[in-house]
Amino acid sequence: MRTTAAGAESPIQQLDLETVSTRDLDRHAMAHDASHYLLVPQGVATPRNAADVGALLRRSRERGLPATFRSGGTSLSGQALSDSLLINTRQHFRGIEVLDGGARVRVQPGATVRSVNARLAAFGRKLGPDPASEIACTVGGVIANNSSGMACGTEFNTYRTLESMVLVLPSGTVIDTADADADRRLRELEPELHEGLLRLRRRVVGNDESVRIIRSLFSMKNTMGYGVNSFLDYERPVDILMHLMIGSEGTLGFVAEAVFRTVEVKPAVATGLLVFNSLDAATGALPDLVSTGLATIELMDAAALKVAQAAADAPAAIRTLPVQGHAALLVEHQGSDAAELSGKRAGSQPLFDSLDLATPFSLTSDPKDRTALWHVRKGLYTAVAGARPSGTNALLEDIVVPVPALADTCGELTRLFREHRYEESVIFGHAKDGNVHFMLNERFDDPAQAPALPGLHRRDGGPGPRRRRLAQSRARHRPHHGAVRPPPIRRRGSTASCRRSSG
Ligand SMILES: Cc1cc2nc3c(=O)[nH]c(=O)nc-3n(C[C@H](O)[C@H](O)[C@H](O)COP(=O)(O)OP(=O)(O)OC[C@H]3O[C@@H](n4cnc5c(N)ncnc54)[C@H](O)[C@@H]3O)c2cc1C
Repeated sequence: MRTTAAGAESPIQQLDLETVSTRDLDRHAMAHDASHYLLVPQGVATPRNAADVGALLRRSRERGLPATFRSGGTSLSGQALSDSLLINTRQHFRGIEVLDGGARVRVQPGATVRSVNARLAAFGRKLGPDPASEIACTVGGVIANNSSGMACGTEFNTYRTLESMVLVLPSGTVIDTADADADRRLRELEPELHEGLLRLRRRVVGNDESVRIIRSLFSMKNTMGYGVNSFLDYERPVDILMHLMIGSEGTLGFVAEAVFRTVEVKPAVATGLLVFNSLDAATGALPDLVSTGLATIELMDAAALKVAQAAADAPAAIRTLPVQGHAALLVEHQGSDAAELSGKRAGSQPLFDSLDLATPFSLTSDPKDRTALWHVRKGLYTAVAGARPSGTNALLEDIVVPVPALADTCGELTRLFREHRYEESVIFGHAKDGNVHFMLNERFDDPAQAPALPGLHRRDGGPGPRRRRLAQSRARHRPHHGAVRPPPIRRRGSTASCRRSSG
């Protein structure tokens, strides 16, 4: 029993719903996601269907109790955590229905990406979004985090491949956006929301500067803030709302079901590892490489290569390389058949031949060799995080810039690592899209490291201005139903952030 000091029922108990558990075991089992945060929820709800979710949202909202969804729990920025009510939607929402011979698929949000793709494989199809965490992450998390991966870019992400969704709003209202009268239903059941979306659209569309900034940011793989490009791309409030749900981290409502258009699994593939003498040379070659139509171009800096070459199945190209400032690009061509693949290979060969590389390069279609190459890249985050000094926290950041700006961005990042004495920092990621991750090892319990984070610690151990700002910012962004933020148009430069992805 969780009662308040005065013996009154806690807000969680007042919910009076049988789907909610306040058992210590349930609460502590859900206190982590894949980030470095720890938040113990007051209660964990395990709804069985959309109606249960509606009741949870309605009642928690009436009692002013913040509610957060958790599905696969693989988020890297604490999105799947709460110190209030946590709603576990992994368990009872796993349905998958293949439609139109695999051209489309209807999925419930607790199904993992891998399980959906396993069902689609028989049809030569897969989901567009391809996060490296596909074995554990779920469709609900992919939609709410706007996750993507090595190949999907901005062309095959959820925004581009989602056809419709069933959504549950904080009031408990359920809307299926596939219904012909979905927009009318939204207007009748949620008039304020409907009108508010139209008002926001008028505000965004009527401001040329907003339009310019949004178009520029969303031409990149930007997942920062709400997907305000929805206001430019759609007119009906129900369509705007459905697209705003993508990347909303569960703050706007619950995705109870989604229908996706699928993409072809290209069976003809050839993969290779380009090893350069410097990070600068690798990033400098990117614009030309991108223009040859490579499906994936994955960057690994010297620190990443050192970790990767220690693996038992490290590819020959890097196994014995005395890594010193080198960097590598894992490249892959994909084709619907052998002829298409061979055309693409021929097209890029002159460029490959012209590159000044540290090791011999060739493309391979051999499944064993390709697996070894991909193992290096896909296992990188866990390998690098696993190799960090004991007692440190792995902080992963995620940024996107226009591809031609990536060389300078990586150069500046490396300079900042040096200046702030981050010694084993790693840069890796989806270079084709100008999207890279960098990992910092931080030892939060060591006052000697405080100078590396100016403003984060005060000498007396209290929170400095930077830490206070971070805490306030996290509190503002914590998934919290019923809280409405204005559309964030906060970046002026060409750099946007993808704060929630990885891999
Ligand atoms: C090793 C590793 C590799 C990774 N690689 C990548 C990568 O390549 N690309 C990438 O983008 N990310 C990556 N990630 C981050 C993470 O895996 C993805 O963002 C993933 O899609 C999250 O899915 P999940 O099911 O774990 O969601 P959770 O972490 O459970 O939840 C994510 C968010 O979605 C909300 N949510 C969940 N279900 C619903 C729903 N039905 N309706 C509304 N809101 C909901 C939650 O409240 C939360 O805000 C990686 C993580 C790890 C640990």
